[in-house]
Amino acid sequence: MKYQRPKGTNDIIPGEAEKWQQIEKIARQVFQKYRYQEIRTPIFESFEVFSRTSGETSDIVTKEMYDFYDKGNRHITLRPEGTAGVVRAYVENKLYGPEIQRPFKTYYMGPMFRYERPQSGRLRQFHQIGVEAFGVDSPALDVEVIAMAMNLLSDLGIQHVKLALNTLGDQPSRQAYHQALVDYLTPYQAELSEDSQIRLQKNPLRVLDSKDQHDQEIVANAPQIVDYLTPEAQMHFDAVQQLLKDLGIDFEIDSTMVRGLDYYNHTIFEIMSDSKAFGGKWTTVCAGGRYNGLVEQLGGPEVPGIGFGLGVERLLLILEAEKYQAWQNNPLDVYVVGIGNETNAATLKLVQAIRQAGFSADRDYLQRKPKGQFKTASRLAAKYTLTVGESELSSQTAKLKQMSSGVEKTVKLAAIFADFAAVCQQFK
Ligand code: ATP
Ligand code: MG
Repeated sequence: MKYQRPKGTNDIIPGEAEKWQQIEKIARQVFQKYRYQEIRTPIFESFEVFSRTSGETSDIVTKEMYDFYDKGNRHITLRPEGTAGVVRAYVENKLYGPEIQRPFKTYYMGPMFRYERPQSGRLRQFHQIGVEAFGVDSPALDVEVIAMAMNLLSDLGIQHVKLALNTLGDQPSRQAYHQALVDYLTPYQAELSEDSQIRLQKNPLRVLDSKDQHDQEIVANAPQIVDYLTPEAQMHFDAVQQLLKDLGIDFEIDSTMVRGLDYYNHTIFEIMSDSKAFGGKWTTVCAGGRYNGLVEQLGGPEVPGIGFGLGVERLLLILEAEKYQAWQNNPLDVYVVGIGNETNAATLKLVQAIRQAGFSADRDYLQRKPKGQFKTASRLAAKYTLTVGESELSSQTAKLKQMSSGVEKTVKLAAIFADFAAVCQQFK
């Protein structure tokens, strides 16, 4: 019997994992500069946390939920996205403090689960890095969040991206737009896909997000939300655009963009890449927006919020297509070569001492000949080799060789055990 990983999942194996660590490290550095702190919430939540927030008619809720009843008959979902769980935790832990503590800024990274048709850049277990900022309604925060996302991508080495921007307005704007959209779509009702016919009844805005080609043709001439904005919503959107210009961040307005989740309002955005990883087709790697009202919806006070989520697998596809060089494959400081079985204890003590001195060290465990061991050292690109044989053992010394210069010195074992860093200084 042969076991295989579940469809739509990946093993992140050594060699790959280093890339993940690098991405996570850069993300943490960026978030720290903007003063976002990490939050870790459960990977599963009550079904309602997502069904109530993402929207009854969203693809996520209707088709993609990994939900089940546990042994206590609780309806559970593996989280399909990060925001709802973070908002749930924000409310439950009463993280909404006095005004002086606002905005409350937090980030997360981890696996998300969606029952999708697996393909390149679309998995059933995938990973997101995301941020949420609560408690401030100012367009300046929208722009800071967008700027941080752009900053993150550029620090990761991704230059060629497009920022698509839209607004969903406030509640009154959406109500007015809702009616206009229904009036427009109703004559096409019979032509719409089956899904979109249901969407038209339950949540017409969702029709704009349809992936069906004929739906998209119909939608192309639909009325646009920007023509239905209240003065307040218009002001917010204008301010966001102006501030983006002030920061020199280019953007395009995409008036049919609605995002896949129901909880958004005002500013929504997507950062897209036309990397050859996606066959040159503009593909979203990072997406987000404002969600005023979501905190209340999950039982908290009236606190606005905004955030984004970035797909790590899609990011990696881009970086790999660009043959990104930044990943260093875990460089090895010292490879300890032991000649003869009697050196076994000495080489083990040496790798341990070197590790305790703060360096990485490795040795052979297969009793291989010196030639094989030196081969491994060079395959691992060791900076130093440290060789111990019978004669070294009797004189309590070892041969330390700096690989870059080829210089070799005989050093006392006692000196290595006392202070390996000082021993290395001899080569400087
Ligand atoms: P799409 O339209 O591609 O289905 P979405 O609107 O469902 O995207 P979001 O919920 O906004 O995506 O998620 C934000 C980001 O997370 C996406 O831009 C993408 O990079 C990533 N992402 C979403 N779903 C998947 C998935 N199934 N596999 C891999 N990455 C994903
Ligand atoms: Mg999707």
